[in-house]
Amino acid sequence: MKSGKQRRAEIKAKRLKRISERDNTVNPFKHPMPEWAIPVNKDEVHHHSMFFDIPLFYVDKEFLCRDCGTTEVWTAKQQKWWYEIAKGDLETTAVRCHACRNKIKAEKTAQKQHMAEVAKRKSHPNDAFFKKS
Ligand SMILES: [Zn+2]
Repeated sequence: MKSGKQRRAEIKAKRLKRISERDNTVNPFKHPMPEWAIPVNKDEVHHHSMFFDIPLFYVDKEFLCRDCGTTEVWTAKQQKWWYEIAKGDLETTAVRCHACRNKIKAEKTAQKQHMAEVAKRKSHPNDAFFKKS
């Protein structure tokens, strides 16, 4: 059986290959739309800046992770989710790879847990002095 990590690496390699074989001069603001692109639903896109035009369709994008510098793919499908379901601003794009995002998520969870534990701790005996009864 393959581990999730291996599988993810394979999927990533496939995506990168797929992108490299494509016509990357495609302009998402101009028709025609390539068959591998995903159309944008303008009504669902959260758009409040006059400086950003809404594209006609999403195309898979390559980017470098801000934290570890590896090449990642932000797929058209993920973009559609981000802009239309999660209502991410058009100005925002993916900046971190899967692994680095998970790392941050884990750190945040650990911190939350720590805060909860601190809150549960017995209060200092002197605290009673400051409390209104
Ligand atoms: Zn990374």
